[in-house]
Amino acid sequence: MPTDPSVTGLFIDGVWEHGRERLAVLDKFTGERVAELSVPGPDEVDRAVAGAAVAAGRPWSVTARAATLRGAVARLGARRAEIVAGYVAETGFTPADAATELDRTLQIFELCAQEAERLTGELVPLAGVPGHERSLCFTQRVPVGVVVAVTPFNAPLSTVAHKIAPALAAGNAVVLKPAEQTPLCAVAMVEALHAAGVPDGRIQLLCGPGETVGDRVVRHPAVGYVTFTGSTAVGRHIRAVCGLARTQLELGSNSPTLLWRDADLDLALPLVVRAGFRKAGQVCTSVQRLLVHRDLAEEAAGRLAGLVGALHHGDPRDPGTDVGPVISAESGERVAGLLADARSAGARVLIGGRQCGSMVAPALLADLTGAARLAVEEAFGPLVAMSTVDSFEAAVAAANRTRFGLQAGVFCRDLDVAFAFARELRMGGVIINDTSSYHPDPMPYGGVKDSGQGVEGPRYSVRDMTDSRTVVLRLR
Ligand code: NAD
Repeated sequence: MPTDPSVTGLFIDGVWEHGRERLAVLDKFTGERVAELSVPGPDEVDRAVAGAAVAAGRPWSVTARAATLRGAVARLGARRAEIVAGYVAETGFTPADAATELDRTLQIFELCAQEAERLTGELVPLAGVPGHERSLCFTQRVPVGVVVAVTPFNAPLSTVAHKIAPALAAGNAVVLKPAEQTPLCAVAMVEALHAAGVPDGRIQLLCGPGETVGDRVVRHPAVGYVTFTGSTAVGRHIRAVCGLARTQLELGSNSPTLLWRDADLDLALPLVVRAGFRKAGQVCTSVQRLLVHRDLAEEAAGRLAGLVGALHHGDPRDPGTDVGPVISAESGERVAGLLADARSAGARVLIGGRQCGSMVAPALLADLTGAARLAVEEAFGPLVAMSTVDSFEAAVAAANRTRFGLQAGVFCRDLDVAFAFARELRMGGVIINDTSSYHPDPMPYGGVKDSGQGVEGPRYSVRDMTDSRTVVLRLR
């Protein structure tokens, strides 16, 4: 993927172009080269943004936008086997992860088509203002113009969908810069939109390094809106250099999930394992920190060790594999370093943790102390670190003590206590009786503190990717 030689990965104004440099896409398990894409130089980046600005100025009806999004759904669905294979190769995730993400992507496109159809402004009552009794005032939602979407490696279908589909639904032109490690799914999505009749210039694709291609595109003065998902460091940089463009930033986390003293462990533990280890723990809402009430700590640790020990770790294409590699050997070394640091700060590794290149055996830790980097930094790897809490106050303090605030899970049968946690946890979302990783696509989703700004979700993004225009009819 891509099999058609005219598809180069560099798409400007409806044409696949050849750039001067090449981006090699590697299979994350075998290390083999699976594709080579064209990388744009500065001139091509500028031309892509300028072309998007021209396209954004042309009329594009709501019915045509919705039809394009739905046409892309049909085309992506028809290429399921090929897209899943490309996804598994470029990410190292399992085919089951690929299928889940593709299904979500199709739903996100459809939801955005529906939002395009119901997007509306509001009637503003002026009748109570003396002298304006008969004036008619209303607002319209108008496209921002050029939206830039910069996306991370770990959700190359659904995160891209959460950005390009609402941007198009709102009537904008989009310049997409996917992660350099996993650009093939973005290529497939752009192909599908092109085949579905998206007007030339409404979607531009630029693949390549963030430091060059990404940096240039977010600085371009014609950009009206930057939607970014990735690390906090890069998000902070983009915010600093993108001028007056509005931003939506979905950033890092080290999400906690809490097992309160009355938690249903039969319900909670399998969900914790799934949310801690799917995609080898490389999900922004992965359960990284598990805060367990002392009354349950011993039982939870014993049962979790059994569940984590049963996970199969290896080639993502083997049908029995639950956990594949992390994205790179450097990432594997970073995770191993965090495990070593946690151990020297007093934690016990109950199971797993052995690292060889990009392979890290699923790890479960107990007795994580506040002195460990894992207690405050993001791991983005296959590990769950438990610590014990004795009181409501201690649980809240532990959950809130990091600079992140994306989502938290709370397993708790007593709803008074559960809602008290929902009040006190400084997070973008608090999920009662599921993990921090719960995320059906229609819901508003976004972090606070260093986990981001703004809220994603079809309804919220479509609206946010428009400006409000006030129209007044003066009647006297
Ligand atoms: P990253 O920040 O390294 O890269 C993300 C994107 O930014 C890539 O496309 C990259 O090329 C680009 N980029 C890098 N430098 C840039 C620059 N100077 N200017 C413009 N663009 C630049 O992140 P990653 O390693 O791909 O993904 C992992 C991170 O993403 C984790 O921190 C994770 O928590 C976060 N993430 C957050 C969410 C969320 O919803 N909050 C979801 C998924 C991932």
